[in-house]
Amino acid sequence: MNQIRVRFAPSPTGYIHVGNARTALFNWLFARQKGGIFILRVEDTDIERSKEEYEKRLIDDLRWLGLDWDEGPDIGGAYGPYRQSERLEIYAYYAQKLIQSGQAYYCFCSPEELEKEREEALAKGLLPRYSGRCRHIPLEKALSRLNSGEKAAIRLKVPSKGELGFHDLIRGDLTFDLSLIGDPILLRSNGLPAYNYAVVIDDHLMAISHVIRGEDHISNTPRQLLVYRSLGFDPPLFAHLSMVMGKDNTRLSKRHGATSLDQFAQMGILPEALFNYLAFLGWAPPEGQEVLSRDELIALFDLKKVSRSAAIFDYEKLYWLNRQHLKRLTLSEKAKKAYPFLLEAGLLPKEMTSQHWSWLEKAVDNFLETVNRLDELPERFRLLFDFSPENMDKEAREILDKESSLRIVKLFCEKIKTLTSFNLEVFNQVVNEIKKETGAKGKELYHPIRIALTARASGLELDRLIPLIEEGTKLTLPKPIPSWSERAQKMLHFLDNRPFFKV
Ligand code: GLU
Repeated sequence: MNQIRVRFAPSPTGYIHVGNARTALFNWLFARQKGGIFILRVEDTDIERSKEEYEKRLIDDLRWLGLDWDEGPDIGGAYGPYRQSERLEIYAYYAQKLIQSGQAYYCFCSPEELEKEREEALAKGLLPRYSGRCRHIPLEKALSRLNSGEKAAIRLKVPSKGELGFHDLIRGDLTFDLSLIGDPILLRSNGLPAYNYAVVIDDHLMAISHVIRGEDHISNTPRQLLVYRSLGFDPPLFAHLSMVMGKDNTRLSKRHGATSLDQFAQMGILPEALFNYLAFLGWAPPEGQEVLSRDELIALFDLKKVSRSAAIFDYEKLYWLNRQHLKRLTLSEKAKKAYPFLLEAGLLPKEMTSQHWSWLEKAVDNFLETVNRLDELPERFRLLFDFSPENMDKEAREILDKESSLRIVKLFCEKIKTLTSFNLEVFNQVVNEIKKETGAKGKELYHPIRIALTARASGLELDRLIPLIEEGTKLTLPKPIPSWSERAQKMLHFLDNRPFFKV
């Protein structure tokens, strides 16, 4: 077989959606596995909706996901240009060839006429289809109308009956009734190509071997095959991927949650986790493996095993996978990934010293295992930054309603309120003293102490928390971490002013 060449051909009319990203990823996996070529082609002939800004974003988003391409608008290649708007002469050339061979014709119908035809067909309960009215205009006549300034589109003549079929690598043999297909437009009167035409010219000239794309293009395929046939080009192989749906079986949309890649990045989903998850949308590894790297996915991916049923996007599964990928990072990678989220939350400074980084590594090591997404981290870090007895949770209040607990909190705070530094050794000493003085042990002892230190009833284990707070108080931070004495004084002050607590 000739070299495998596949392409991802997005239209830069918006931010990239997970459905499209999945298409890109399946093409990429297939190319990388087969030692083939992966091409990025920008289909920007919808001039009103296409924007350069979207193309830039698209490229950034695909790179963020971990995809790279061998040919594309930003890097060039032997089959360029890779932006359809730069290929207009090529489309005009082949359209002329089809006119010359009598397989295409000029169509002078105005949008109003076409609309009228459409409405009439719909009113009769028929599928709207171009009547072929301009088919019979002799070429010389058409040329003289063009010379006198009239505008015309170019349409392909297609058989009005019969069947056309193709073999889809995922969906098997498919057949289409030609009587439902009207003569498709190749070039519009403004010279811009129609999608079904440009895609054929490009896929042929770019020597694409496999077209892997969304199922929404199945109905376009017979039109494209007719163009291949008219030009005498061999069509590539086709593989149409099922649609990506929400859990309610409707097409995945904003209603279901995040859909564009930048939204996932903002949520703190790692690109490798999203990559892993997207690969599972319609495909599963043979032994049910779940947490896989890009290289592992390349080795296992099998286009022939891609399912034809709709792929359901399960956010919880993605978050779970993200947690697994977060665990796989080294400590310094974890800190680097966490940093932007903590900076954004105003918890860490723009200028980070080596002390900041080493503290962050320790903190992240403790908190990361409690989250699915990096955007949940600032909330976890607040345990260190916020000390507000007035906002104590219900559980903590209930504990403090017990006289014995309240006594422990007060005793503990009295003992630490003048300490300038605090560590586990000092902590254990203080706890032992309180144990002797009160006779409390286990939960009875530690629950109130936790409340005294954090004003919360639960959180990180104390022997992990204490060093983090102690080191944190020594850092220069946008909002400092309260010291032990500040905590103790604040708590005592609060308790003295809360008459509803029993003393
Ligand atoms: N520009 C088309 C799209 O974004 C490409 C379809 C195809 O891959 O042929 O849907």
